[in-house]
Amino acid sequence: GEHHLTLHRFPLEQKNRSLQAWDSADEYLLDYTFEHHCPPQHALVLNDAFGAITAALIAQYPTIRVTCVSDSFVSHQACQYNLAVNTLNTEHVTSQNSLTSLPQDVDLILMKVPKNAGFMQHQLAQISQLAADIPVIIAGKVKEIHSSTLKSVTHFLSEPKTSLAVKKSRLIFAISTGKPVKDKFPTSWALEKTNFTIYNHANVFSRDSLDIGARFFANYLPQGKKPLKVIDLGCGNGVIGLLTLAKMPNAKLTFVDESAMAVASAEHNVLHNLPEQISNCTFIQNDCLTDFTLGSADLVLCNPPFHQAQAITDHIAWQMFVQAKQTLKQGGELRIIGNRHLEYQEKLNRLFGNCKIIGNNKKFTVLSATKRG
Ligand code: SAM
Repeated sequence: GEHHLTLHRFPLEQKNRSLQAWDSADEYLLDYTFEHHCPPQHALVLNDAFGAITAALIAQYPTIRVTCVSDSFVSHQACQYNLAVNTLNTEHVTSQNSLTSLPQDVDLILMKVPKNAGFMQHQLAQISQLAADIPVIIAGKVKEIHSSTLKSVTHFLSEPKTSLAVKKSRLIFAISTGKPVKDKFPTSWALEKTNFTIYNHANVFSRDSLDIGARFFANYLPQGKKPLKVIDLGCGNGVIGLLTLAKMPNAKLTFVDESAMAVASAEHNVLHNLPEQISNCTFIQNDCLTDFTLGSADLVLCNPPFHQAQAITDHIAWQMFVQAKQTLKQGGELRIIGNRHLEYQEKLNRLFGNCKIIGNNKKFTVLSATKRG
């Protein structure tokens, strides 16, 4: 449209600020929508990374209702922030996570292709629960749209067509069928060397099996009877925290992830595998440890992420380490697993003034840093 918006990526402190808060697929999606659709009354927007689609819709159609669906805490935060800095009316915007059912009265659905194909299937299954004949426009980078993506769209929606590529992006057009198709999530698997079953909502990291990093990390988890305050930072399905609870019957465990599906999976997994310890656990959807009480934790365990959406960056890992130090008590410990090539050892040394290797194989290193002084 002809509106000029200022859009920011989140978190704001991120080092590489040259990355944009929107991409050519957002532009294509919006240009097409403004040109070919009559103004919607209630748009459903799925997977808007930093709020660019939502902001542009409201700028163009000030009275529109928008329901924003995202699994990501950081995306919801970014969207609210970007609406505010552009002084856009947020009164008619509803934010929800990807486990909540979709509103029934939408008349246009705009979706960004998520990185995770299973998660896209979950979202398409949700759309299949809605009335028939709602137009759905899906946008993505050409390299993110595979023949399997089109197959999923065909499975859940009708009349799929694809656009030409513009600036390396593509649109998929389809309409809702009004015929609910069953979702295959959550899925579950047996956790090796335990009696535990691990449930995973669609967008959870390493949903189909134990992550090989987590498997190695499992050999280096703490144990004992002390009632320590432990945080599983970036908990995913909660496997690290769950294994820790099994070895530390009196620990107070806080599971944190920015993915709503991760937090819900972790809670489900403790409830089903160690129900007697659920009262010692807290489950929080948050951006790392932002707003956690300073000096409150004895131990932070972390298998950090190394990308945000399509961007490979280590700013999240670094934010996790910095905030872990702030959240730890004096004498508290951060224990992490990383790919050897990521050089986390140097980072922890810089931050904590100490770092020891407690485990090592060809691929991974388990590191421990203690908060002193
Ligand atoms: N602990 C799980 C395991 O070992 O299988 C998952 C580890 S996975 C490598 C990293 C996790 O960090 C993902 O679940 C991801 O959603 C989460 N994450 C990414 N960015 C985050 C953020 N800003 N705040 C909290 N968690 C985040």
